[in-house]
Amino acid sequence: MKTPFVTKEKLEQIVAQYPTPFHLYDEQGIRDNARRLKAAFAWNAGYREYFAVKATPTPGILQILKEEGCGCDCSSMSELMMSERIGVTGEHIMFSSNNTPPAEFQKAYELGAIINLDDLTHVALLEETIGCIPEKISCRFNPGGLFTLGESREGFQVMDNPGDAKYGMTKVQLVEAFTTMKAKGAKEFGIHSFLASNTLSNEYYPRLARILFELAVDVQKETGCHITFINLSGGVGIPYQPDQTANDIAAIGAGVRQAYEEILVPAGMDDVSLCTELGRFMLGPYGHLVTRATHEKHIHKEYIGVDACACDLMRPAMYGSYHHITVMGKENAPCDHKYDVAGSLCENNDKFAVDRMLPEIDRGDLLVIHDTGAHGFAMGYNYNGKLRSAELLLQEDGKVKMMRRGETYDDYFATVIW
Ligand SMILES: *Cc1c(COP(=O)(O)O)cnc(C)c1O
Repeated sequence: MKTPFVTKEKLEQIVAQYPTPFHLYDEQGIRDNARRLKAAFAWNAGYREYFAVKATPTPGILQILKEEGCGCDCSSMSELMMSERIGVTGEHIMFSSNNTPPAEFQKAYELGAIINLDDLTHVALLEETIGCIPEKISCRFNPGGLFTLGESREGFQVMDNPGDAKYGMTKVQLVEAFTTMKAKGAKEFGIHSFLASNTLSNEYYPRLARILFELAVDVQKETGCHITFINLSGGVGIPYQPDQTANDIAAIGAGVRQAYEEILVPAGMDDVSLCTELGRFMLGPYGHLVTRATHEKHIHKEYIGVDACACDLMRPAMYGSYHHITVMGKENAPCDHKYDVAGSLCENNDKFAVDRMLPEIDRGDLLVIHDTGAHGFAMGYNYNGKLRSAELLLQEDGKVKMMRRGETYDDYFATVIW
């Protein structure tokens, strides 16, 4: 059972002021979750979450996370500019990019960000670009092969394919990068890795931590480089399906702690700070895409047309992702109608749900599409000339604040040279 964070009554008030479709975010939920994460890693003195800006590149959201002590994980010029603009600079920025344009290394360096190199060739590129190697520097590791957790929960098997991923460097390359950078004046080294996405398992971070801690012990011994931080990156998932169980962040923190005490502490490396770059876990459940049923169509299947489309939420079209739908006011009605819930794009994959059992939907009903807070608005686009929606914040005091207005036709045409 998934329950919206907003009541029908409240939503009716909101839509009276702001037309559908829009993304709505839950300030209270975001803050409570950020505090749970912080508490789970409080045992590690230097711990910091760098929110993956690409998941929800909305200044109003970054500001809330900043107030909760989070930095920004950036991977592009605009993301760096956004962080700077809200006052997140220096070591509060982790710059984890790939195929990096030199101008972005330059900007990251000027902001004092921690730079995380994706490839061995970036050592020379960085030095050429900024004229030195920073004293504090990080490298991204890719162990290759398949990553599996063996254990599965509710039939969900954690598996991903680092060997097929474009990111990171091999261990041999990482050792070479560290050695070269030490000779050029680097003093503090970090290791980063991202092995699996949207993991629904309390074991993912602890397993990743073990891999990275063992690597760190080896590399520090082999190179004499002082490893002062390890970045567990993103990948902690959320339950998109109503029958899935959420990860327990306290258990995850405790599992990482156990690995730390078993591997790093005996090696004399108890000064290592941990960091994370969570995106989905920080925001996913705390966003709804709110849309209205505008059409019904009875042909070979039953369709409900809504005023949102894949331009507002691409995940179902792109990955076939499940996003739960609540028909507001019909929470307790029987789910005895089988629908495809579709947007208006001239693309047959523009469907928020396929063959979904839902209560009978009438035109005018408000639909909440769940778990759209991360990689939702962010992946929006303008196909078919659709305008990108507004982003609203349901504040802790119950008031609604617009964080980003919806696009206008003037915005859409602004870049055209007629
Ligand atoms: C996308 C990304 C993240 C965030 O991933 P989530 O799955 O949203 O947690 C973190 N770090 C890097 C480098 C990424 O590319």
